[in-house]
Amino acid sequence: MKEARIEINGTLITEAMSMTIRVAVENFVSFLEENGLGDDEHGLRMRQLYMERIEELRTLLLRKVRCPSCRRPMDPGRVLCNRCVSLQVLEKDEEAKQK
Ligand SMILES: [Zn+2]
Repeated sequence: MKEARIEINGTLITEAMSMTIRVAVENFVSFLEENGLGDDEHGLRMRQLYMERIEELRTLLLRKVRCPSCRRPMDPGRVLCNRCVSLQVLEKDEEAKQK
């Protein structure tokens, strides 16, 4: 499985680091489901808000990303989709021929 492409303060993290974040989030879900954060109003509210933010993160962590050039869906972790990479190679070949 390709992991989500995650940038932290301008640095693209490795796939192993991205996997670590995904696993940490899922373990936090297990913790919240098993233990919660206390039965008082504050604890229940905090648990609810964490679960809502986690659902947003899951949507991003598990979805296909879009190619920044053509906007087609592509695997996470790639810079461009296969089609755009092929087009770039063809364009470079054309430029080389014209020189
Ligand atoms: Zn593309």
